[in-house]
Amino acid sequence: MDHGISMHVDAALGGFILPFARKLGYDIPQFDFAVEGVTSINLDTHKYGYAPKGSSVILYRDPELFSYQVYTVGDWTGGIYFTPTTLGSKPGFTIAATWAAMLYLGEEGYMKITKEILETGKYIVNETRKISELKILGDPLWIIAISSDSINPYVIMDYMAQRNWHLIGLINPPGFHIALTYRHTLPGVKESFINDLRESIKDAIEKGQPTTGMAPIYGATAFLPKDQLDLILKYVIDWLYNPWE
Ligand SMILES: *Cc1c(COP(=O)(O)O)cnc(C)c1O
Repeated sequence: MDHGISMHVDAALGGFILPFARKLGYDIPQFDFAVEGVTSINLDTHKYGYAPKGSSVILYRDPELFSYQVYTVGDWTGGIYFTPTTLGSKPGFTIAATWAAMLYLGEEGYMKITKEILETGKYIVNETRKISELKILGDPLWIIAISSDSINPYVIMDYMAQRNWHLIGLINPPGFHIALTYRHTLPGVKESFINDLRESIKDAIEKGQPTTGMAPIYGATAFLPKDQLDLILKYVIDWLYNPWE
């Protein structure tokens, strides 16, 4: 602020939860334009806005900032060209479906979903804290990162995958996380998550690392240098895009 430097807030994941959480009485610190220095915010309608992938929103504090986003070619022989987004041709379907999702749910719908997600989060945090082998990282609401000091968390994650929980691995520290959605608030789901966690820990202790899974790959991130890892990831992309070679 004092130095005229812009401040962007990435509210991709939290943008459609936190404002409603605050209205529900959760103690949510200010993160949006209420903070004087914040100049732009993105939030993903395609996540907790329940709109299709491909839709997202960027907000600017002032229209001048937006003007830098607009790309124009006034002297193109094919005519004039201008676009405010990276995509020139955009699907109208995505915009219409986003509009429909937001009107269908309304503030009331977003409040209801947020309330259920946060209550499910509270349950999972509390129950996970009772499992002595596990520890919760930080003090989360609905995106819950779990680590362990006594068991390789990637092995637990692999046994969870065998039980159809496709969790996302974390590095530094090693762990995994679950981002709760409306599906997880349906009857019985949170209980089976905790149950499966306990069973997966038992498997990890009794059977060790399973023969298939992500544990060795995530494990490699602990000792491979960053540039070698980046290279491997590039090879994977090459391989994905060149299936005939
Ligand atoms: C999802 C997400 C992004 C990326 O958004 P895409 O629309 O998937 O490109 C960026 N930041 C955060 C915090 C996110 O959750």
